[in-house]
Amino acid sequence: MTAQAEVTLPAAVTDAALPLDPVLSACGVGVVIDGATLLDGVDFEARPGEVHALIGPNGAGKSTLLGVLAGDRAATSGSVQVQGRPIGSWRLRELARTRAVLLQQHDVFFPFTAGAVVAMGRAPWRGTPAEDDDERLIAAAVAETDVVHLTARTVPSLSGGERARVALARVLAQAAPTLLLDEPTAALDLRHQEDVLRIARSRSRAGDTVVVVLHDLNLAAAYADRITLLAGGRLVASGSPDAVLTAERITEVYGQAVEVIPHPRTGAPLILPLR
Ligand code: ADP
Ligand code: MG
Repeated sequence: MTAQAEVTLPAAVTDAALPLDPVLSACGVGVVIDGATLLDGVDFEARPGEVHALIGPNGAGKSTLLGVLAGDRAATSGSVQVQGRPIGSWRLRELARTRAVLLQQHDVFFPFTAGAVVAMGRAPWRGTPAEDDDERLIAAAVAETDVVHLTARTVPSLSGGERARVALARVLAQAAPTLLLDEPTAALDLRHQEDVLRIARSRSRAGDTVVVVLHDLNLAAAYADRITLLAGGRLVASGSPDAVLTAERITEVYGQAVEVIPHPRTGAPLILPLR
């Protein structure tokens, strides 16, 4: 595996460009289950105002790390802090008002309507003044994810991509300042993939913290402010898209030869498999 040189943030980024403390930080996180090491000594930080993409081959540990950052899964070693407090000290309801999680598996087996599923995103705010915002936030989430026309349909009757958008709408309606999204674009068509990343970017620009697992390296290159690459449960590199997405590193980590060229207009790295 490649050296962890990129883990140290480049000087330009560590200066004034990172004024905000991380909302989420993991230090030396390990997860071992039944003797299998899913994560090993992973450091990770997510800051407000940034889209942080988590990438890596199948089985790299991306979903495991997201689960640990969400507080849904306990680390067996290392520590995780949310807003500077150990994640274990947060009450569940408090956490639910702090971060919203889109799981990779988000199947709804009961015949709830899509509208009812989106409304479930508001559950953490029941009995608080924020309840007054329920209708407005649900309507906004449904519009942003383009599922307005689907709200009366039952979720099992929807296509995979439609279901994924309803699941995302539920997460957006939760209106938590940190979004943890596990492969939100996997089932989506081109326009809806771009929609998801546009939403992620606009939320981050409004001050939210976004961590998003992506397989499409070009989406990560185009939209992420920071990319963390995992492989085999270990951190391989973390930094700007330019720093992380080198042809040599991607070729080595994914076992697929690629070339990386700058986008002719934006300059963002374009990753092309050698064919
Ligand atoms: P990713 O999301 O990067 O594809 P995951 O975090 O889901 O990877 O899983 C990391 C690795 O851990 C995979 O190889 C997966 O098969 C393995 N794994 C996940 N859960 C368990 C478990 N309960 N027991 C053993 N291995 C597991
Ligand atoms: Mg996964």
